[in-house]
Parts: sequence; structure tokens; C-alpha cells
Amino acid sequence: MTTSETYSEAKVYERKKITFTIYIVLLDIAYLLFMSVIGGKWLADFTAHLSSNIWILLFVFAIIFGLGAELVSFPLKFWLSYVIEHEFLLSNQSINEWLVKLGKSYLITSIIGLVFIAAIYFFLWNYSSYWWVFASVLWIFFSIISGFIVTTFIVPFFYKVSPFTNFSLQERFIRLCKNTKIQLDNISVVKLSKETRKANAFFAGIGNTKRVFLADTLIDNFNDDEIEIVFAHELGHCQLNHLFKDIIFSSIISFIAFFICHIVLVNLAKLLGHASFTAVSAMPLFFLCLTIISLCILPIQNCLSRHLEKEADEYALQNTNKTDAFETAFTKLAIQNKANINPNKIIAWLFYSHPPIKDRIEFAKSWSKNHSIN
Ligand SMILES: [Zn+2]
Repeated sequence: MTTSETYSEAKVYERKKITFTIYIVLLDIAYLLFMSVIGGKWLADFTAHLSSNIWILLFVFAIIFGLGAELVSFPLKFWLSYVIEHEFLLSNQSINEWLVKLGKSYLITSIIGLVFIAAIYFFLWNYSSYWWVFASVLWIFFSIISGFIVTTFIVPFFYKVSPFTNFSLQERFIRLCKNTKIQLDNISVVKLSKETRKANAFFAGIGNTKRVFLADTLIDNFNDDEIEIVFAHELGHCQLNHLFKDIIFSSIISFIAFFICHIVLVNLAKLLGHASFTAVSAMPLFFLCLTIISLCILPIQNCLSRHLEKEADEYALQNTNKTDAFETAFTKLAIQNKANINPNKIIAWLFYSHPPIKDRIEFAKSWSKNHSIN
């Protein structure tokens, strides 16, 4: 395949993914709107006779409401994460493997979701004026807890994880890790090749659960210099406290978001025919509000994320001085992952959590010029 064919294929792949994501979001909003105005009251009336215990009624309502949301968007989600990935020869997953992974993610999200809903309604029913303050504190608590369990439980629950044992790279990694919070023991290889051809690496964890994960799809296809650059980038996220900055950002946002939810619930719930703003039937209105706020925040969140990614890129360049390897690594990453190297500016601003590859390579080149390397 020629470079221009690869580039146009990446553009088609991106367009399809964005289109389907927008359809899914619109469908989710339509479902939440329907449930906020009519469906929530029907469902609450339908389940009311099942028990006299409000907690049982809350859980039954939440499970049916959540199942409905999944059913509505399931065909499009299947198309987005299974059909399109196979169409572009990026996925190695069989339908069974895809279903098992989906089942696992349903299990995790149901447990977290039900705990979250139970806590929110406990606050709503006991502190109706200040529930949003408690909800925000709970959100911060969740963010910190998830920071602790992501590397020890969540990643190993979904993927096969093994220690990093590449001897040719160990010397370089020991040098990079000197005086950092990451040591060789904190580097793992995650077997992504079972489900995708895409290369990836990421840093996660808090305290002594901090860990850098390198995908086998990266290790098998990139040379030592390129892997070193990618690892240095992930190390940059750790050393520059990016996870901590993310938690601070989401904590501030959670206070604003839950406060807006409170105002919307207080002013709209009764207007829409719910008994009160703390009624279980108004739960869809709460989630509709959260969804719209998340969408409004997405560009700001992506802007912050791109800024942190640029900082990690700079850290990688400063600590390796390998601008050529940086360029080949990110070009390879774009080809292997069918990433659009030069997307439309508005699309990038709205949807990109990482700077476009073209910008990253240009940044590395100008960094190299300014630091007179190569
Ligand atoms: Zn990064």
C-alpha cells in the first residue's frame, strides 16, 4: 500500500468511527430524553408493586433503565467496536472473544454503577439540598480508588499481563528510570495482540501501584530506539504528575457538574411530572444532565489532555535526545493504528485526546532545532 493510500484509508477509518460515535451519543441522548419525560415515570409505576423497600425498587429501576440504554445503542456499538475494526483489518478478535470482553466490562460497570447510584440516592434522600457536595466528594474518592485498582485489578482482568523481560532494552530503561518513581519492576507487557493489531503503551496507577504498560504489539513491531522513546513518554506522564493533575481537573469539574445537576433536577423534575427531584423516576433526568455536561466539557478535557501529552513528548525528547527515533516511532504508530496524521483542525480540537501525529513530529523537529541535536 502506498503512503497516500494509507493516509486516505486512515481518513475513511476516522470518519466512520467519528460518525458512529456521534450516532451513539445522539441515540443515548434521545433515550435519556424519552426516559426523563415519559419512560422514567412508566418504569417507576411498573416496578412500584414489586416491593415496599425503596432500595430494592431503586436497584430494579436502575438495572432495567441501564439495560434499556445498552439495548438501544448495542447494534451501533457492535458496529463501531467489532465490524469497523475488522473491516480495516485492525482486530484479531473472534466474536466469542468480543462477547467475553463485553461481558466483563458489563460486570465491572454494573458493580460500579450500582454502588454509585446507591450512594447518590442515599445523599439525595438524606441531604437533599447538599447532596451534590457529597456526590462530588464521592466522585473524587472513586477517582483515587480507581487509580489504585486499575493496574492491580482492572488491566489484569481484561488482558494477560507479564513482567518486562527484554534484555536488550533493560540497560536503557534502567538509565531512564534513574531517580524516577518507576523501576524495572513497575514495567509490564500487556498482551494486546490477542484482540488488536494496534500498538499502545500507557501509564497508570497511584502510589506503589504506579506502572507503565507496553503492549506486545508495540514491542514486536518497533525497534529499540522507538520503544525507548515511547517508554520515556510514558515515564514523562509519571514524573510530571499527570494523573494527579487529571484528578484535580475532574474534581473541580465534578463540583460544577453535580451542582448543575442539582439546579436542573430541582427546577425540571416536577415540571416533567416527577413526584419530586429525589424521586427514582427522575434518575434518567440526572443522567441526561450528566451526559450533556460531559459533552460540553469534552473539548476542554481533550485540550488539557493534549497539553499533558505534549509535555510527555518533551520529557521523552529531553531524556533520550532521539528525535529521529521519535519521528519514526510516531510515523509507525500512525501506520499501524491507521491514525489520521493530519486531521481537520476542528475535529482534532473536539475529539483528539492526543495531538495529531503531524503536530507531534513537527514539535520534535523544532525541539531538535532549538536544542541543536542531530
Ligand atoms: Zn501519553
